[in-house]
Amino acid sequence: MTTISERLAPIPQPVLDIFDKLSSNQAVSDAITQAQTDEQLTLRDQIELTEIEAPPFHEEVRAANFAERLKALGLESVRIDKEGNVIGIRPGVGNGPRLVLAAHLDTVFPAGTPVKVRQEGTRYYAPGISDDARGLAVILEVLRLMQQYKIETVGDVLFVGTVGEEGNGDLRGSKYLFGSKEEHIDGFISVDGVNINRVLHGATGSRRYRAIYEGPGGHSWNAFGNASAIHALGRAIAKIADLHTPEDPRTTFTVGTIVGGTTVNAIAAKAEAEIDMRSINNDALNTLVETVLEILQKAADEENARWNATGDKEVKLKLIPIGHRPGGDQSDDTSVLLAARGAMERLGIPLLKYTHASTDQNVAMSLGIPATTLGGGGSEGNNHNVTEWYDSTDSYLGPQLALLTALSLVGVKELTTPLLSKQP
Ligand SMILES: [Zn+2]
Repeated sequence: MTTISERLAPIPQPVLDIFDKLSSNQAVSDAITQAQTDEQLTLRDQIELTEIEAPPFHEEVRAANFAERLKALGLESVRIDKEGNVIGIRPGVGNGPRLVLAAHLDTVFPAGTPVKVRQEGTRYYAPGISDDARGLAVILEVLRLMQQYKIETVGDVLFVGTVGEEGNGDLRGSKYLFGSKEEHIDGFISVDGVNINRVLHGATGSRRYRAIYEGPGGHSWNAFGNASAIHALGRAIAKIADLHTPEDPRTTFTVGTIVGGTTVNAIAAKAEAEIDMRSINNDALNTLVETVLEILQKAADEENARWNATGDKEVKLKLIPIGHRPGGDQSDDTSVLLAARGAMERLGIPLLKYTHASTDQNVAMSLGIPATTLGGGGSEGNNHNVTEWYDSTDSYLGPQLALLTALSLVGVKELTTPLLSKQP
């Protein structure tokens, strides 16, 4: 069996040279060693942040706390943008690329979910402890190390806590970060989850809709002849179920939920479904969405035609978009991907997964800005469940990986040139 590293083109020599120079530098290698010494410190940040609840659309208390931590570590320009993202800038020496190092502030858990962390040995239990309090703690540690060892970078590093990464948040934080253009950004790394053996090269895009059919309803016997909202939805689902989508680029769909009707002996006045569609290719995704939207309308038309329904007697379709995560993919020689692989090789971390997923990185990738997602170290389980846990064994590798990757991308003064290019 060939490993992923064997399947990929080798890391080019100039990239390896950069890592040679970084490792031979005293401040950088001291900082890498310090990450291990700081393991408990990083865990403390992680626990404290976990214990500040950050439910969907209400990350503000955790955001304020995270902003204070960036300031305490010496960042002068720390602000919270209009969407709620925390942004702290560590300037480089000038004229270099700007890299975002991000983690998400939000959790999937509603307000009032108990967030007290319970420890058993190296294992910590609490909702959100891994996803993504770990990421937040890791980027704080990267900043701490850069400050402590006075590492002067060529480019700027923007430390960002994003809002709305999960579920219905629909990436609203990173969408605003890129959409508002308040900050120029040349590269993006999200630290999300814990798996340090995984590098994401692509972003799974998704589109979600709620389709609502509404009609006249009526008694099943007396009003027989009226068009039915449930029958219209049934027609739609039958057609959607028969669709064929490409395996490459992988493109998927499902009708995830249905609700409708009031009782067995009534023609349904209302029926609705939620539909999820995904692809790693935006064109394939758009084609699928167009097809599904046509089907949804056609189903209403057919139901109306079946019963000669016109005007008030028609079943009508209402479409509500409930999710839009842009997708994208990058070539294997993209700077952030080579940087991550180079740093892993240097730290002896095997690359076991080279794949795509949906994280804050999606927005950057869809815009052609080099991006990836790294794990924060340690191990995790039961994410998105109140029984979520985090195990801190060898967790220091997470901050080491994020630090070394970031440094190679923005460059170190009088030592290395940045791997990351400036976007026009
Ligand atoms: Zn996450």
